[in-house]
Amino acid sequence: MRVFNFSPGPSMLPLEVLQEAQRDFLDYNGTGMSIAEMSHRSKDFMAVNAEANALLRELMHIPENYSIIFVQGGASQQFAAVPLNLMNKGRADYLVTGNFASKAFEEGCKFGDAFCAASSKDKKYTYIPDVDTIKFRDDIDYVHLTSNNTIFGTRFTKFPTVDAPLVCDMSSNILSEEMDVNKFGVIYAGAQKNIAPSSLTIVIVRNDLINNPLDICPTMLRWDTQVKNESLYNTPPSFSIYIAMLVFRWLKKMGGVPAMQKINEEKAALLYDFIDNSSFYTNSVVVKDRSLMNIPFVAPSDELNDKFVKEAAKNGIVAIKGHRVVGGMRASIYNAMPIEGVKSLIEFMKKFELENK
Ligand SMILES: *Cc1c(COP(=O)(O)O)cnc(C)c1O
Repeated sequence: MRVFNFSPGPSMLPLEVLQEAQRDFLDYNGTGMSIAEMSHRSKDFMAVNAEANALLRELMHIPENYSIIFVQGGASQQFAAVPLNLMNKGRADYLVTGNFASKAFEEGCKFGDAFCAASSKDKKYTYIPDVDTIKFRDDIDYVHLTSNNTIFGTRFTKFPTVDAPLVCDMSSNILSEEMDVNKFGVIYAGAQKNIAPSSLTIVIVRNDLINNPLDICPTMLRWDTQVKNESLYNTPPSFSIYIAMLVFRWLKKMGGVPAMQKINEEKAALLYDFIDNSSFYTNSVVVKDRSLMNIPFVAPSDELNDKFVKEAAKNGIVAIKGHRVVGGMRASIYNAMPIEGVKSLIEFMKKFELENK
């Protein structure tokens, strides 16, 4: 039986996509072999790579002056790749709004004068700083931010206006709502939340930011290496790129990002409304900064949180335990989570509340 999987990542994939991958697993496109067994230089895989790239460009309206690359190493590797490709003046500002943002900042500090221009640590990362009042430094290479904070359940709904390029870790909300790519110099995302199995990382970079890496930047981390070679400098995560292509086709069929955003807003509203109207469950994120993708909440005690997680699993609601630094529960409701999953979670929450009040 399939369960509703609320894992923060790797996370649910659309059932249709899994079924299609299963059908084609032993014999892709009449080749007599699996895509997992196929050379990344073969005609069939090159077509997959090109289609995935083109569909992402279409879905996110990525302008011609940006390149898309598919690499390995996770979003975490881009924490280092960003300064190594961009820190020519040796200065960058960071917005530290959560765990991953903080890791990116620490990595930036290794390569130059990275500065924390704003942080929400004072209130346990339960809000996003007001982007209009942040004082950025002059003469910086970039500003780094994390559009959606996966662990704490916050998201930027407005981005700062600065002269320096904005670099955005979009791992946990890429393709979930409309974003104007033109606002960013670089967008990167690990695929395992909204796009594909783990091992694929997507980097979208404006072309004027590609060709000036630091001398010490390893060949594999240089964006120009990947752009020149159409992500085939070395063996790419080919199976994940194939699943990404299927997910992009599915997204397009669903009506693209605007249609997805509507469903995501509806799903999140159902859960937030239920939590806000309950005297049993709490979400402590500032309302205007709440994530559409990751919704942390707690029951009245640690014992009840533990009990909730255990009993939920028996009811087909799995991987809902919160991150250890926040505790409680976290419902990750990415694009592939159907609205039925959220409704089923709410039904369980009602039942659990009645039984444990
Ligand atoms: C999951 C996540 C990461 C880490 O991604 P990896 O691919 O595991 O390195 C980084 N940033 C954000 C916002 C995330 O949600």
